[in-house]
Amino acid sequence: MQQRLGRVAVACAILALAGIVFAQQKNPATKPAPDGEWLRGIASGKTRVVDLTYAINDKMPAWPGDEHPFVATINATPEKDGYFTRKFCMLEHYGTHMDAPNHFPPGKLSLDQIPPDHFVGPAVVIDVHAEVAKDPDYRLTPERIRRWETEHGHIPGGAIIVLRTGWASRWPDEARYRNQDASGTMHFPGYSLEAAKLLLERKVSGLGIDTLSVDYGASKDFEVHRLMLPAGLYHVENLADLSALPEAGAFLIAAPIKLEGGSGGACRVIAILPQSASM
Ligand SMILES: [Zn+2]
Repeated sequence: MQQRLGRVAVACAILALAGIVFAQQKNPATKPAPDGEWLRGIASGKTRVVDLTYAINDKMPAWPGDEHPFVATINATPEKDGYFTRKFCMLEHYGTHMDAPNHFPPGKLSLDQIPPDHFVGPAVVIDVHAEVAKDPDYRLTPERIRRWETEHGHIPGGAIIVLRTGWASRWPDEARYRNQDASGTMHFPGYSLEAAKLLLERKVSGLGIDTLSVDYGASKDFEVHRLMLPAGLYHVENLADLSALPEAGAFLIAAPIKLEGGSGGACRVIAILPQSASM
């Protein structure tokens, strides 16, 4: 029963979020409505909800040079205080996190200022694990995006792009996840600038990836960051295992901590899978 109540609660939350999306939408044609079938599916327990977030601890692979990315200390104990609380200190860009536009000036919006309707949208999952297996420096190309569109239709405005590289299989082994060479340069896949430009034209809300950065590991100038964040988009990096997601048809909720002035922060990412992909 509790489980059932939990599902109903999740469904209510989703419906409320969907309500926000529709209420704030100026042009409904640009963002497809989540179809009612899977909303009902959540309430009836037939739709799968998948967590794409790593649990936060001090052992996660961090950006090279980032020290003490997470520290938690006991604040109150049941023995002394009758209840349990901790306090924690962590980097804004650590674990599954969102980059806010102000992370790369002239981007302006801080994490708390991103419009909440941008946090929900259809998931466009582009699978490049085969390409990455051959080349860890792989960067998503416009051609690969167009192939997705040939198979699944035009990428809708308000979509959240999820680049599935297969890199999550290396988590939480920091050395393998960073994949640095002798000179310290990292080698992991990302988006190319040309692909980012095309996705900007498609008016997507954000870019996601299962690596440390949307720019590939060897990047020195972070050109995708420099294009997308000043344009008002966000990134979600270090997404967890994406293997459960269909290439099209899932719905994403990427809800970051509402950190005033933040350049980024921990983000809970949840995918709602259509019934066809879940059963
Ligand atoms: Zn980033």
